[in-house]
Amino acid sequence: MTLASDPRRRVPRTDAVLAEPQIALAVTRLGRALVKEAVGSAQDRVRRGEIAPGAVVDAVLDRLPETATTVRPVLNATGVLLHTNLGRAPLSAAARRALDVAAGTCDVELDLATGTRGARGRGAIDALLAAVPAAGAALLVNNGAAALALVATALAGGGRDVVIARGELVEIGDGFRIPDLLTATGARLREVGTTNRVSVADYADAVGPDTAFVLKVHPSNFVVTGFTHAVDVDELATMNELTALGVPVVADIGSGLLAPHPLLPDEPDATTALTRGATLVTASGDKLLGGPQAGLLLGAPGAGADLVAHLRRHPLARALRVDKLTLAAMEATLRGPAPPVRQGLDAVPSTLHTRAARLAESLRCRGIPAEAVDAEATVGGGGAPGVTLPSAAVALPESFAAALRAGEPAVLGRLDRGRCLLDLRALPPDADDELAAAVLACR
Ligand SMILES: *Cc1c(COP(=O)(O)O)cnc(C)c1O
Repeated sequence: MTLASDPRRRVPRTDAVLAEPQIALAVTRLGRALVKEAVGSAQDRVRRGEIAPGAVVDAVLDRLPETATTVRPVLNATGVLLHTNLGRAPLSAAARRALDVAAGTCDVELDLATGTRGARGRGAIDALLAAVPAAGAALLVNNGAAALALVATALAGGGRDVVIARGELVEIGDGFRIPDLLTATGARLREVGTTNRVSVADYADAVGPDTAFVLKVHPSNFVVTGFTHAVDVDELATMNELTALGVPVVADIGSGLLAPHPLLPDEPDATTALTRGATLVTASGDKLLGGPQAGLLLGAPGAGADLVAHLRRHPLARALRVDKLTLAAMEATLRGPAPPVRQGLDAVPSTLHTRAARLAESLRCRGIPAEAVDAEATVGGGGAPGVTLPSAAVALPESFAAALRAGEPAVLGRLDRGRCLLDLRALPPDADDELAAAVLACR
């Protein structure tokens, strides 16, 4: 081979590649920098003799990312409905469309009828109050932790007491500890009871003129069994020591369940907490509610609603306020069809088995050793600890796990006794074909 005919000497110039119509189109979609990067690596492949100079355009198009973000979609086949590492609740199609609308300029804070400033995010708050008629007022902040931080700062920030049971001083995950958050606001913790037991008398002894509020925290990721006793919201709300001083009861229910759910009898919900006497309820928007990341603050009519108004005006509220995307997605989650988390929770086991059998059969026909098996799914993500949901899965050899994670879309399964299980409870039924295609791509 002469020097002139060596393909490595004829690397197409960057300008020329970028001028190709399909590449120019990609630049409008992804921006020049990302496309240039892909061109650079295709040119390197020509220099290494891996591809021919004429193959550069195709090589660039082949390796271009789908979007300008490094975030990639993952099919959740773990059987964990709320997977923290996968972004907790996936949004409903209605919420995704709402995000798209709100992404542009929108009337988040404008009254289109009069052309004057409107109440910010009114639609989401109205939807929340419609979903929880027991609440007299509501406020949305960034997440569940922000809701607690706002309450603690506004009511106890000056070194006043938050009365809380020792068994409810919980760590939620990734080192996030509720007691640390509370003390960081300047509140003082007044711990009552022991790890396993607390009584009304313990609370009564601790409450006094320095008490800002009594806090009940749902231990949302563990269960204590055996010789245990906790005090319910209704017992706290009717304690003479509290009512005499007008001390509010704040319930951090965690998961954002708005009303009781038959499959989750031990999971607290906002409606029950409010009707049993909680002044204020705090919760997450992206757990069992199935919406975007947000923190809910729901006040009971009267004192609770006054408290919400006070919190809304607190300077910290501005630092914790949600953006238009969250407001739009939350409203659509509440008003629209049941979000995926809810569909997964309510999925009928026999339907899951039918899906697993159909998938396994179609994979076996294409030479993949797949088998439909019984499985046990969980809620995960800080909700309904100890609850298992009967489910069905497609079992594959364990070696599929890594290949599935590397695919497009990526698939995350669960390893179980030398097998890779693809659990269908957390996966929407309309994703079955995509799942099958992802498995076939691993051959
Ligand atoms: C999840 C959870 C939180 C924190 O909520 P984020 O939305 O993750 O900030 C607080 N308290 C309880 C009981 C929880 O389960």
